Amino acid sequence: GERIAPLPARDGAAPPAISFEFFPPKTEGLEAQLWHCIERLATLRPDFVSVTYGAGGSTQERTHATVLRIVKETALTPAAHLTCVGATKEDVNAVAERYWQAGVKHIVALRGDMPGGAPYTPHPGGYAFAADLVEGLKKIAAFEISVAAYPETHPQAASPKADLDNLKRKLDAGATRAITQVFFDNNIFLRFMDRALAAGIKAPIVPGILPVTNFNQARKFCEACGTSIPQWMAGMFEGLDDDVETRRMVAAAVAAEQVRLLQANGIDEFHFYTLNRPDLTYAIARILGVKPDPAA
Ligand code: FAD
Repeated sequence: GERIAPLPARDGAAPPAISFEFFPPKTEGLEAQLWHCIERLATLRPDFVSVTYGAGGSTQERTHATVLRIVKETALTPAAHLTCVGATKEDVNAVAERYWQAGVKHIVALRGDMPGGAPYTPHPGGYAFAADLVEGLKKIAAFEISVAAYPETHPQAASPKADLDNLKRKLDAGATRAITQVFFDNNIFLRFMDRALAAGIKAPIVPGILPVTNFNQARKFCEACGTSIPQWMAGMFEGLDDDVETRRMVAAAVAAEQVRLLQANGIDEFHFYTLNRPDLTYAIARILGVKPDPAA
């Protein structure tokens, strides 16, 4: 609606801060794909790159190995995702301490989900919610901590207000940045920013951008996490299941338009869910004015 300003001229505008999210690879082939992706995106000099933690901590060792390889082989600043679901405080603390000793000082602190979509129950000896995890991490070391935010409200939240209060608790406990769940409707995000501001949240809320090429896969993911897919977007991908080439072009156009509109509304920090594929993210970062550093 009326919140969307016309796109300003790019000339002279400062490029935004960007960050990239990867998942830890399961096989040697996927590992090679990830490293090709990291090498290509590294030239854009992201503020940090984050590595996810598989459901219920299932990728603990692979996440750790991937983060450590980033420390050893690149000049990038890594952020390790860490969840508290299904684990004792001692176990979670041990993982965090290992990161700190290895020079990994940024944690994306999350609750995580129960396996098989079961209703959430905190581990009796664990951190119950992400806010408790943030508090615990701060006692271990001076970690930089990012947390999750939900423009469309977390599916298990009692209400949008309760969910926003929870975000504020996570930031008050010591997190300094929120990264949003994926969204495609910019108006939903901008309204969420207004509500966050009204609730006294001053920390940056960074939009999580998912460049979608595999629309059917994205739709399933979005259903599970409460992200709505605008009708116009579903319409653009309709009938393209077997047309990879057109799907990629549509995907680039959709994501480029999304980030340009956010940029025109003053957003100057973006987090990309890369799915370990560099091309679309690279192009979209370029569209935002990010230029590669040949030395990086
Ligand atoms: P919380 O902030 O703890 O909130 C969870 C729910 O509980 C919300 O509904 C909240 O309103 C409610 N709540 C909070 N405190 C209380 C309380 N005291 N009483 C009652 N209700 C309460 N998952 C992974 O497994 N690995 C990852 O690497 C990963 N990375 C992610 C990265 C981002 C940027 C995002 C947005 C999500 C990520 N997730 C990941 C998914 C995340 O684990 C799930 O969305 C999970 O369901 C909620 O995690 P949270 O940290 O937001 O939880």
